[in-house]
Amino acid sequence: MTKKKLISFDLDNTLIDPTYTTFVWEIGIPQLYAKKYNISISKATRIVIGEYKRIGDLSLEWYDITYWFKYFELPGRWENLLEEHRDKIRPFPEVKEVIENLVQYYNLIVISNAAREFVEVEIKDVGIENSFTRIFSATSDFQQVKKTPQFYKQICEIMKTEPSDTIHTGDHYEFDYLVPKSVGIKAYYLDRDGTKPKDSFTVKNLKEFATLIKKPFSPL
Ligand SMILES: [Mg+2]
Repeated sequence: MTKKKLISFDLDNTLIDPTYTTFVWEIGIPQLYAKKYNISISKATRIVIGEYKRIGDLSLEWYDITYWFKYFELPGRWENLLEEHRDKIRPFPEVKEVIENLVQYYNLIVISNAAREFVEVEIKDVGIENSFTRIFSATSDFQQVKKTPQFYKQICEIMKTEPSDTIHTGDHYEFDYLVPKSVGIKAYYLDRDGTKPKDSFTVKNLKEFATLIKKPFSPL
């Protein structure tokens, strides 16, 4: 039997609607901050978002909820905050069907820049965690804030696969398309909103992606 090819998926805005993470960062944390310092939610939101901007998304801390809990001296545990808003985790409508189909023919992994704490809660909630061989967080596992060429090469090495036997898809034009393509991975840009001109490496949803990678599985 030949070795199954590898497909890697980005997470936020690829498999899962970003509502949940946005809610935790922009509403959940400001609410706790307002409670702790006894100020209005709008004032707390201004302060919290201002601090995120000051640290910036090029710093590992920006992604790290344990850092922000300590930094703001927030009450309670970060785990409870993630748990409390789980009802907002929503996969895109086609995800379950596509993943359940593709897993029969490929090895599937997830690679995200979100911290592991978020990635795991999101994947588990959707009930697709058993379909993925590995779940990688660029920030938690590799201390990198971006998916660099080196990062993709490391993933291929860990997965013992050649870039040419690897397919990646995600919603960031540079980090999910241009960068993996530059190391020889077959990349597809997931353009749900149709922001780029359509070509043969652009897909508007994962159903289209599954059809395009042309494998002998039942038509979706
Ligand atoms: Mg994304």
